[in-house]
Amino acid sequence: MIDRSELLNATDEMIDEAVKYADPMVLRGLVYQLTGDESIAATQATVADIKHSQASNASKELAIVQSKADVSDPAQVAMIQAKAAAFLKSYRDKGAPDIPCGTPERISRSLNLCAGADIPASELEMWVEQLALDPWARSLVWSDPPASQDVQKFVVAVIGAGMGGLNAAVQLKHAGITYFVIEKNDEVGGTWYENQYPGARVDSPSRTYTHIYGVDFEYPNAFCPQRENLKYFRWVADNFDIRKDITFKTEVKSIVWDEAAKLWEIRAEGPDGPRVWHANAVIASVGFLSRPNMPDIEGMETFEGKAFHTARWPKGLDLKGKHVAVIGTGATGYQMVPELAKLAGHTYVAQRTPNWCFDTKSYLDPFPSQVNWLDRNYPYIRNFIRFRLSWLAGPQTFAPIMRIDPQFEDQHARSALNKPIRDQQLGSSNASWQAVLI
Ligand SMILES: Cc1cc2nc3c(=O)[nH]c(=O)nc-3n(C[C@H](O)[C@H](O)[C@H](O)COP(=O)(O)OP(=O)(O)OC[C@H]3O[C@@H](n4cnc5c(N)ncnc54)[C@H](O)[C@@H]3O)c2cc1C
Repeated sequence: MIDRSELLNATDEMIDEAVKYADPMVLRGLVYQLTGDESIAATQATVADIKHSQASNASKELAIVQSKADVSDPAQVAMIQAKAAAFLKSYRDKGAPDIPCGTPERISRSLNLCAGADIPASELEMWVEQLALDPWARSLVWSDPPASQDVQKFVVAVIGAGMGGLNAAVQLKHAGITYFVIEKNDEVGGTWYENQYPGARVDSPSRTYTHIYGVDFEYPNAFCPQRENLKYFRWVADNFDIRKDITFKTEVKSIVWDEAAKLWEIRAEGPDGPRVWHANAVIASVGFLSRPNMPDIEGMETFEGKAFHTARWPKGLDLKGKHVAVIGTGATGYQMVPELAKLAGHTYVAQRTPNWCFDTKSYLDPFPSQVNWLDRNYPYIRNFIRFRLSWLAGPQTFAPIMRIDPQFEDQHARSALNKPIRDQQLGSSNASWQAVLI
């Protein structure tokens, strides 16, 4: 049973206050799903009108891309919040038992209400999976179950214990398949263990950055810093009891198929020297960013100062009073440079290709306490937040922004849609593009 002791001790005022911290669109879908209350379904979600100089060119597609539909009428927002609070108080008064998430028949309408759009029928199954009510959605279901002795004899090797390797291990364990994991580091987490530069954090919303079975992991920020991301991967390893199946500090050097034995031979180097394993199948989860790519810059070998890749940040490095030069202004650059500017004597930035990023409100801020309180106490709110943010970051939002229109003629912009976004970032348009969070 889920521990709801906090809720049982909550006053009406605390609940009334907390629901104001939830996205009304999340409450709209969630409370409808839990109650079937048609007055919630009758509220209007509208897409903010885009006022920018090139609206005629950008046309309909821009409106679709900017379609962060919201309930804009304050009276309707207040009504949704009041209904959400009423549900929670009544749930508390009943002793806050474990409850199902409404009826399955309502789910597609609830998701439409939460998205503020009609989800295409062909995508519905995927979005229901994203809602993560079923932690084992997409896991193995045998169509023709093999004999148990055959399953027992079949061994899978997983290389790497980052997001991908841990997931492979959890899924294999869930399916009852024998497996082992080999990891070169002395801890799980991969990317989030290795990247410890100042300012390291996710640039996609943390609520969408968990496995489906991790939906209830409590994230304290909309965009979590490295230490919170690492905490999540440690939680996966511990919660699913994977750690005991991982051989740490051991780097795989070769994987060769032995045709006679019908097995993979895996050779690795560990603290006690070379080791050899055999497995029926290998899942390589070595990550595509786990080997830093050092550029070949003339004179680097004779540079006498410290020089390192951000993924190999020296422990305890003191930059006070130092002159630091950063090469590159991608996601890592924009996270790190403001932090270095605080730490170092002077920070220089070398940029080859300028790129764009959207203003992201509260990118660095932790949530107000009410947000995590709701996470712990409002049944299924995390599922609906996950869905809403995944939807807003989904292909229907971002694909059109990325598309290059070969017919579009402009010195800088790549499409009619790209132009107003660019203009807004340059401050020459009033259109209000903002990344979405909570
Ligand atoms: C700074 C940074 C920020 C990022 N932010 C985001 C984000 O916001 N959103 C997003 O979706 N993605 C982000 N990413 C991408 C991120 O890498 C992936 O989201 C994800 O963590 C990759 O997981 P993985 O398991 O595939 O690889 P990794 O996390 O790289 O894990 C691979 C593991 O394999 C191990 N390994 C490699 N070779 C061997 C070997 N030969 N033998 C044994 N073990 C081996 C490594 O030690 C490592 O533990 C970011 C990446 C970086 C670097």
